[in-house]
Amino acid sequence: MIGTHAFCPKSGAPLSDEKHYDSSGDGKRAVLADGRLNEEPPLGELTNGAIRSSKTALFNYFRRCHQRRFDADDGLYQKASLVFTRLKSAAAGRQEWDVHIWYAAQRRLDNAGYETNWMHANAEPRCPYCHGQLGYTQFVNGDVIAYCGTNCTDRRTDHLAEIRKILVAVYVQAFPDASDSISVDSFLQF
Ligand SMILES: [Zn+2]
Repeated sequence: MIGTHAFCPKSGAPLSDEKHYDSSGDGKRAVLADGRLNEEPPLGELTNGAIRSSKTALFNYFRRCHQRRFDADDGLYQKASLVFTRLKSAAAGRQEWDVHIWYAAQRRLDNAGYETNWMHANAEPRCPYCHGQLGYTQFVNGDVIAYCGTNCTDRRTDHLAEIRKILVAVYVQAFPDASDSISVDSFLQF
C-alpha cells in the first residue's frame, strides 16, 4: 500500500516516518526492522510502499496490524495466509491492488466467523482508475458514495460501487465454492 498505510512491498515491514532524499529530490522512507518476521526485511531499503505488494508482505502487514490491537491468534493467521494466497493467485489487473486483496480478504475472514472490523483502520479504498484518494459524500439516509479526488475520468458514478464489483469478481474467482452466498453489497461495509 502507499500513503498513510505504506509498508515494505517485499516483506511487509514498517517504514520510517522520516523521508530520505536521493539526487533527484524524491523523498522515500526506509524499511525498518520487524521482530516478528521469520526473515530479515531489506533493512534501510528506500520505498514509499507499492500499489501491489507480495503475498508475504500483505500477510505480514495483516499480522502486525492485528497484533497492535489483539493478542496473537495462530488460527486466524493460518486462515489469513491461505486467504491471501488464494486471492493473490486468482487476481489479475486491478484486482491485484493491495487495497482490493485487503478488502476481499476481510470479507472472506468475516465469512469464516472472524472479527474483521479492525481491518478498516489499516487501509483505505482508492480510486479504481488512478489509485488516487477518494472524496466522500454522505446522504441523509446514511448512504455513502465516493468520487475520485482528482476526477480523473470525469465519471460521476459512485466509485465505491465500482470497487465492490472488483472485490466480488476477485472473490468468486478465488473462492468459487462461496459464490452463491456472496452479494456485491456485502463488500466494503463500514
Ligand atoms: Zn481517479
